[in-house]
Amino acid sequence: MKTMPWNEAAKQETHEGWVCCTCKKFYFGECAERTARYCCGRGRPCDECGKPTNVKHKTRCDTCQHDRDKKTYMNMQPVVWDGEQMLCAYQDDKYFSHPDAVLEWLIDEEMIPEDSNLTQEAAEKFQIILCEPHNPSQWEVCEEFQDYMPEEMSEPPGDWEKAEKAVNDWLSSCGDWCWMPGKNRLLVESSQ
Ligand SMILES: [Zn+2]
Ligand SMILES: [Zn+2]
Repeated sequence: MKTMPWNEAAKQETHEGWVCCTCKKFYFGECAERTARYCCGRGRPCDECGKPTNVKHKTRCDTCQHDRDKKTYMNMQPVVWDGEQMLCAYQDDKYFSHPDAVLEWLIDEEMIPEDSNLTQEAAEKFQIILCEPHNPSQWEVCEEFQDYMPEEMSEPPGDWEKAEKAVNDWLSSCGDWCWMPGKNRLLVESSQ
């Protein structure tokens, strides 16, 4: 799709009305100018530094986004790996079961030299964080099948309690099976 530079992308038609110069769509109201420029325009100024952004729908340029991510990451609490939790790269969908796996990945991707250890510096540079378990919660039959229960029915038919217990016993026997990026960053132990 052909895009227009930000400053030529839209023009004002009425007091609060702006039109996109490319597709002629009309925008009205408080954010009309910005929305109209956004419509088929490019290079929206970065919300932070004012330089043009290069990707549509981004409100910050790459540099500002990078700085912001770095700040957010460094503000996380540094915590030592607990020996079980998964690790991941912040804002990346790479997951690791062990700090050694992080190291392997960094070496494989040639992000650090082959004979390196996983240092605090590397963990921070590649923004390694600790994950938290994200397991299914206890199953509640009454809640699950509520929509199928007529009003006069106070509980589901049959031996639902047995079914509920069986599922919940199974869930608690599984341990942690799903992980989500957590709020702490990795503090590398010197022995690792
Ligand atoms: Zn347009
Ligand atoms: Zn910027």
